Amino acid sequence: MITVIKGMRDLLPPESGWFAQLESEARAIFAQYGFAEIRTPILERTELFTRSVGEETDIVGKEMYSFADRDQTSLTLRPEATAAVVRAYVEHRLWDQPGLARLYYSGPMFRRERPQKGRYRQFFQIGAEVLGGDAPQIDYELLEMLARLLDRIGLAGWTLKLNSVGCAQDRERYQQALRAALEPVKGGMCADCQRRAETNPLRVLDCKHPEDQPIIATLPALQDYLDDGCRNHFEQLQKLLQAGKIEYQNEPRLVRGLDYYSRTAFEFQHRALGAQNALLGGGRYDQLAERLGAPKGTGAGIGFAIGLDRLVSVWRELTAPAPAQTDTGATTDAETRTGIYLAPLGEPALIPALELARQLRQTGAGKKRTDAMIAVVVGDAALAAKKHLQLASRAHYRWVVLLGEREIASRELTVKDLASGNQSAHVWEQVALHLGL
Ligand code: AMP
Repeated sequence: MITVIKGMRDLLPPESGWFAQLESEARAIFAQYGFAEIRTPILERTELFTRSVGEETDIVGKEMYSFADRDQTSLTLRPEATAAVVRAYVEHRLWDQPGLARLYYSGPMFRRERPQKGRYRQFFQIGAEVLGGDAPQIDYELLEMLARLLDRIGLAGWTLKLNSVGCAQDRERYQQALRAALEPVKGGMCADCQRRAETNPLRVLDCKHPEDQPIIATLPALQDYLDDGCRNHFEQLQKLLQAGKIEYQNEPRLVRGLDYYSRTAFEFQHRALGAQNALLGGGRYDQLAERLGAPKGTGAGIGFAIGLDRLVSVWRELTAPAPAQTDTGATTDAETRTGIYLAPLGEPALIPALELARQLRQTGAGKKRTDAMIAVVVGDAALAAKKHLQLASRAHYRWVVLLGEREIASRELTVKDLASGNQSAHVWEQVALHLGL
């Protein structure tokens, strides 16, 4: 048997349905805030990520799926989408269009991390970027949009952690202070931190080793090194959050795992997630687009990425209606049954059954919400009524419509409700009504 690759997984129904539903909730809210979708390729040139995400990050250092194409160009399966969206912003001169560019994306990302619960090597992100401005109100509206999305899907209990990582000069001064503070203590830290203390001390703050945390808590805080512009920006943003009644926690040691961030950095966490508690993360990256070729003054940007795998797992845990349990632990019918199974009894019933299916689907499609559409399937005409009923019941359909020779001739069809066990007869034209379509 050939199995799926380690750290990757197949999303089967019903889980795939949860993904789709969350995605559609997100799309609806994003549209309200003026975002439109961008789809970039899954493969990019490796240098896009080394230059934007940063050579010293875990992602670029050890997690990318990179390979040489047949012409020896080094290509990489995207580990994240911001770099690609910014590349597209620059390449298609979106900076030249009036107003801000508000773009969202949804799709798979690839990182060769150590697999564990909530951490996969192919995972899904839905994210958004606003490019072309750096006013704090942009950051505010992005955070408001996320808070609204989480509230709307019923995920009470989120926490917004907020920090400012300042601009390049602030971080330069801070790095010096950090290096000095790390010098006497780094010997007691993990091997990664000892290396980072030399190469990129900011990354030390990102360390997840519990033993290193007490040392990290004593290190200087970046917020004390912000220049006036960055401090004002951060204060302005906090003022807007307070006015908008969006709760947040100021988290002076929050840094994100990618090098391109400046000023605002944030994470939404959820206690139901355990060790991998970040539902989504993001921040401002005012230099990235210019580094990738945008003209001066057009490159400021901010964005976030929601981990859909984690969002689905918390969402299911907190909001999924637990299927009602019977004494034996089996789920009750009324909770889980849905859809219509048409049972043609013999070959002559097949064409009428296909016709009825067509009609029922059309009536169902008249409903506005596509996610509320009811499935209509046609069983194998070679099966006997008893077999049809067994199959429909085991596959958790709610309704079975029997189409035998007699029923077709009289145009009066037998409809069985598998949830209640009730059976009734209806003229062909009334079936849809009875089925609630
Ligand atoms: P990042 O792109 O690292 O800022 O991550 C943004 C969000 O994506 C995180 O908050 C997670 O929810 C999710 N995420 C990142 N890496 C993984 C992974 N390996 N498996 C599942 N979700 C992930």
